[in-house]
Amino acid sequence: MIELSGLRRYTIGEATVRLEADIKFTDMNETAPAETMYFEIDKEFGGMFVCDTYDPFVLTALYLAMYHKTDLRIHGNISKKFYKNIKWYIQKILCDFSEVFSPVDVIVDGFAPTEATGFLTGTGISCGVDSLSTIYDRFVKEDDPDYKINALFMFNCGSHGDFGKPATQEVFISRIMRSNAIAEELGLLLIVVDTNLHQFRYEKEKDTLLFLSIYSCVLSMQNGIRRYYISGACSYKGIKEFGDNDKHHADLAVACDSYLIPLIKTERTELIIDGCQYRRVDKIKNIADWDIAQKYLNVCLIQKGADSTNCGDCPKCARTLLTLDILGKLDNFAKIFDVEKWRSKSFYYKSFTISNADKEIFFHENVELAAEYNFPMPTRRDCYTLDKQVMIIEDE
Ligand SMILES: [Zn+2]
Repeated sequence: MIELSGLRRYTIGEATVRLEADIKFTDMNETAPAETMYFEIDKEFGGMFVCDTYDPFVLTALYLAMYHKTDLRIHGNISKKFYKNIKWYIQKILCDFSEVFSPVDVIVDGFAPTEATGFLTGTGISCGVDSLSTIYDRFVKEDDPDYKINALFMFNCGSHGDFGKPATQEVFISRIMRSNAIAEELGLLLIVVDTNLHQFRYEKEKDTLLFLSIYSCVLSMQNGIRRYYISGACSYKGIKEFGDNDKHHADLAVACDSYLIPLIKTERTELIIDGCQYRRVDKIKNIADWDIAQKYLNVCLIQKGADSTNCGDCPKCARTLLTLDILGKLDNFAKIFDVEKWRSKSFYYKSFTISNADKEIFFHENVELAAEYNFPMPTRRDCYTLDKQVMIIEDE
């Protein structure tokens, strides 16, 4: 059995507030990767942490319990709404997504208070296409104060590298600096949360815990957050066609976001999936004329510390450049991409895109967009693949 107990919130030193719970593996062959799970926040925002519910710890503990096929015992209360969703629906989604998970029993003492006190509408900022498109729509273009973003968030829960490694902290800090620059230009608050949830992930379902940890960070701040937009990675149509985990090796977000996120909610805090109404290429079109995106868009897989330019060669850079090329918006992004280098070598990537259009959603969308814009792409007769390399038939 896996047990959660000892929920507490306390101040560390001058500047940090920690929300913490104990986790124990009882009568199991393995011990827990750590004795406690925690979230940390700047003291100024410490009051946002909820200390009357185990909601923020449940998804990580559930992941561990389902992985080890053992029950989860929570010595305290959780949200009734969240409890029902976990019991009836969320476990089934995780089991269908990956065979490493099995359904388990979740035992709680009772249920948490339901009165909502938060007034923040937030979203995460990563400077990628998904997050910038959400910020553009739900902050720049949104007028309704109930739904307009009024705070940005960054979480250190696995997307910046493995737990406890100095390189992870370096990447996290450089990303905070970049996000802070955008937050300042937009006049928005940037709230940063550190955790050790990624200390509990298992290699086989590493990414799955990352996504669950992001949702958990939101649930840790139920005293402050009323609504939170999660930027979806994939369109509804794309999920339908490419969300099959076995066939396309889709991650939890691509495969399940559209129906999982609406279940991650309590009486006090609601998560909203934003972005599935668009294809990735439509999101790029959405932000292509926005000065903030032209200055700060960062899709690159290669991190260069404070330098926020994009390498132009990695898969994420190349697919973004191709979309901008098709849209005729390349020059808008000349400050952060080497546009001339792209122009001189884009034929290879276009051929590669054509060759893979049936296998991967983002290749497929670029081919679709090219057809919509009458943008010239290589024909299939120009290229073929051999040992995963694209071979191009040169003209005689
Ligand atoms: Zn790159």
